[in-house]
Amino acid sequence: MTIPVFRTVAEMRAQVADWHAADKKIALVPTMGHLHQGHLALIRAGLVTADRVITTIFVNPTQFGAGEDLESYPRDETSDLALIKGEGGHAAFVPLLSEMYPEGFATRVTVDGLTEPLCGASRPGHFDGVTQIVTKLLIQAGADFAMFGEKDWQQLAVVRRLTRDLDIATEVVGVPIVRDDFGLALSSRNSYLSDAELQVARRFNVHLRAAAAEIAAGGAAAAACEKAAAEILAAGFLKVDYVECRTADGLELVTGSPGCRSRVFGAARLGGARLIDNHAVV
Ligand code: AMP
Repeated sequence: MTIPVFRTVAEMRAQVADWHAADKKIALVPTMGHLHQGHLALIRAGLVTADRVITTIFVNPTQFGAGEDLESYPRDETSDLALIKGEGGHAAFVPLLSEMYPEGFATRVTVDGLTEPLCGASRPGHFDGVTQIVTKLLIQAGADFAMFGEKDWQQLAVVRRLTRDLDIATEVVGVPIVRDDFGLALSSRNSYLSDAELQVARRFNVHLRAAAAEIAAGGAAAAACEKAAAEILAAGFLKVDYVECRTADGLELVTGSPGCRSRVFGAARLGGARLIDNHAVV
């Protein structure tokens, strides 16, 4: 027996209505598929938080920029559905493009401010695609909770803001980053890396973590981040998009000593992949 797979919003809503009528709480786990342990941690967190978990799989074209990896993005629905089932997930929503963006689709959702720095600066338009699809998924499902990974910390902050601003009743829950044994944050895009590149990739978190530790010990944030960026390049990365210390909630730039909860954020390119990660300054 496989799990139920909804292809249409109507099918998902009918199931959600039945579950709500039976007094079940529902958690939504939005993903782009090619699931790994990071995604499965979101499903497990959903199972702890709610009675039913719906995982969505949709490679959303509007959050990819020109020249990015939309066409080559890894897709494996059969394996994803088996992983969801194996984890105890109750259902999947796997819509066609035409279900999400029917002919004549013309609506945008923009969050100002939080979307401007970090990945917003290095991937213009990316967050407009994210806010558009996440808003749709949250409205479509009407779930009680939605699980998002802290790996995409900026995305999590943006989604929290949009649910607050638009009075979407779904509670957004952040889930800690899942890493491999070397500290590399798991990502579907890690599959683009050769074995040699994977070794280099595993230096990324080491340098970001060192910067966070240096700042926590009283070092100036700007200098610590600059040093980490240089070390990431020296380790073999092609390009550093950013290494910055920012406040955890408002994502304001910290150059000296952080006055409140903050994190070191990094994005860098290696082979065909763009890696992102972030670490708490503690
Ligand atoms: P994606 O399929 O890459 O769009 O990711 C879907 C969700 O899984 C997002 O909320 C991500 O933040 C989360 N996620 C991806 N990788 C990880 C990870 N290594 N640890 C925790 N959450 C993750």
